Amino acid sequence: MTYRVPFVNPREHYRRYKNEIDFAISDTLSKGDLVLRQQLRDFERNLAEFVGTKYAVGVNSCYHALYFSLLAAGIGQGDEVITVAHTFVATISAIVHTGATPVLVDVREDFNMDPDSFEAAITPRTKAVIPVHLNGRVCEMDRVMEIANRHRLAVVEDAAQALGATFEGQGAGSFGRSGCFSFYPFKALGGLGDGGAVTTDDAELARMVTLLRFNGEDRETGEYHYHGQTALLDNVQAAVLDVKLRHLPEWIKHRRSIASLYTERLQHESQLQLPDFSDTRYYDSYQNYVIRTPHRDELRRHLRSQGVETLVHWDKPVWEHRALNLPTLALPQTQEICRQAISLPMSAETTVEEAEITAGSIREFFKDEAYQQQPECAKASD
Ligand SMILES: *Cc1c(COP(=O)(O)O)cnc(C)c1O
Repeated sequence: MTYRVPFVNPREHYRRYKNEIDFAISDTLSKGDLVLRQQLRDFERNLAEFVGTKYAVGVNSCYHALYFSLLAAGIGQGDEVITVAHTFVATISAIVHTGATPVLVDVREDFNMDPDSFEAAITPRTKAVIPVHLNGRVCEMDRVMEIANRHRLAVVEDAAQALGATFEGQGAGSFGRSGCFSFYPFKALGGLGDGGAVTTDDAELARMVTLLRFNGEDRETGEYHYHGQTALLDNVQAAVLDVKLRHLPEWIKHRRSIASLYTERLQHESQLQLPDFSDTRYYDSYQNYVIRTPHRDELRRHLRSQGVETLVHWDKPVWEHRALNLPTLALPQTQEICRQAISLPMSAETTVEEAEITAGSIREFFKDEAYQQQPECAKASD
């Protein structure tokens, strides 16, 4: 169906930036610059500067950014890597594919890693931690880094949803040994298809990822240093991403203004828990605006009937996907979020009018007296 309020709007996005995007593509193609050329180097330099690291290395997905970062940290069979259960499956698959064991911990109310759960999960086999900056909010990185440093763990940040977000003024992807980004089309900085990058201050790590993404080959000497993979960020993608990166700060501002509008309109709904974690240490980029309610499925149906498209990230804990062979866990926040969370329309193209329609439809839903009698949104500890 076509929605009155789409979750994202790639056609409108292209309409707005068509001239710049078309020029980046045709310029790259006319020069014949398809693989490992100037456009890629330019984008890598600008991305590193934006994130606040010395190096950025383009790869073909955040999955590969994570996988290569773990390999570069020496992770393999017999090791344990801690991350959160409430993340996209790629975070966990990257660990599994190194041969290491993923150890999944719970999140807090802000959907991010609970530093206490992280510390409690450390064993003598733990070698690394992957904090995931979900929905455009950075994890509480002062605590995560302090714990990781004390236990000598490599920190690989999954910053797929947090390019441009900061904690105490420092950019997502610049805290750990490396930061991993995604340019999947629906991320805040979206390409034409799959894309990703590793950011780091470590020259050796940058070099290793540079070799791993291109079959292990040192382009200068022709020597193969690893059994690598085929995982380049294409030049034409880099050229388009470089153009879009210049707009990212204004897009994030727009996302934040839509988020404020949602918060303003919905803050008095007793059945709703909003992502309004007023703590000035964080600058959130709002990859997603996620609300929680015990009436999630009914609310979602209502919004759909009003032409408002929403998404659920994710409707069951990852360990319930039996084929993944993950141990069954009891993680109260993760489980409750899967039952209660709903992501509202959010993109750089979401208009004030669309956000008003969405917020108005939600308020209308909760006016129904059946929902007014219910207790307040239950806490995980209840
Ligand atoms: C999108 C996403 C990924 C994977 O990114 P790809 O570029 O599609 O591989 C990993 N982690 C999180 C948190 C994501 O949102």
